Amino acid sequence: MKPFSYTRAATATEAIETHASHPESQFIGGGTNLVDLMKMGVERPAHLIDISRLPLSTITELDAGIRIGAMVSNSDAAAHPLIRTRYPVLSQALLSGASQQLRNMATMGGNLLQRTRCYYFYNPTYRECNKRDPGSGCGAIHGVNRIHAILGASEHCIATHPSDMCVALAALNATVQVSGPHGSRAIPFEDFHRLPGATPQLDTNLHPGELITSIDLPAPLAGFRSHYLKVRDRNSYAFALVSVAAVMELSADRTVKSVRIALGGVAHKPWRARQAENLLVGHPLEPARLRAAADKELAAAKPHQDNAFKIELAKRAIVRAVTIAAA
Ligand code: SF4
Repeated sequence: MKPFSYTRAATATEAIETHASHPESQFIGGGTNLVDLMKMGVERPAHLIDISRLPLSTITELDAGIRIGAMVSNSDAAAHPLIRTRYPVLSQALLSGASQQLRNMATMGGNLLQRTRCYYFYNPTYRECNKRDPGSGCGAIHGVNRIHAILGASEHCIATHPSDMCVALAALNATVQVSGPHGSRAIPFEDFHRLPGATPQLDTNLHPGELITSIDLPAPLAGFRSHYLKVRDRNSYAFALVSVAAVMELSADRTVKSVRIALGGVAHKPWRARQAENLLVGHPLEPARLRAAADKELAAAKPHQDNAFKIELAKRAIVRAVTIAAA
């Protein structure tokens, strides 16, 4: 591990100012991903700014919705009464991720910044990885790519985003609040993460030095139904091959009044299934239409040598998650 210096910030302003005055610095909260990456030599910050003591560890009610501080742990968020009752899909997603010990340490803000678990990215002895070393190539495209993307990838990177929490936040229409050297701003969740394009080294649209301060959730849909479905190789402590967060509102005759579907494990960012949603809204929820919606969403999927199975798996996962939510 490369030697680094360390300071602890007491306020968000202090953290942002310290970042501005230390080139090559990074914020560290729970450290559950960053420390691993530093040990592997993938991340090599010269300075760490500890933000774990910032006063951002509360969950508060807004006029409509709630605000989750960036330093709330994944465990505390999953167990919080406001989240369990109004946003259970988020609680389900959080509890499906990692292990209890990791959830106790991992923060909500840090979870947004998890990096891909692509084998080639994590191991610097593999020389080809455009995300780790721009311009070096992509070892996964013609290598082992069972866990990789089938939607929205590029010739430069086929990595997937690893978070469960973020899939639920995509379906909940969350907003990410950030502060930085040039002030504060709110980023709609769909605009927070990026597709790889020609710059896979950039996972998010955060500007340099910006600090995530909270995640805002709008008021839940009236009479909402929801479900988070995670399909993985083993039943705990594994990343999703495919996951689906479904949040919906049905009328008394089971017509879909509104629905939001997000997919995990299939793209470089949580994938909002707009095409499937559009085919469902305004129609009775019945199996043939639901399967047609899933088919339409995956029509543009592009498999690689080891991950074609994800296409049918994603379709079936959409059907199952929406069906369970509706029930
Ligand atoms: Fe690197 Fe992306 Fe290719 Fe993985 S898929 S090797 S992260 S460029």
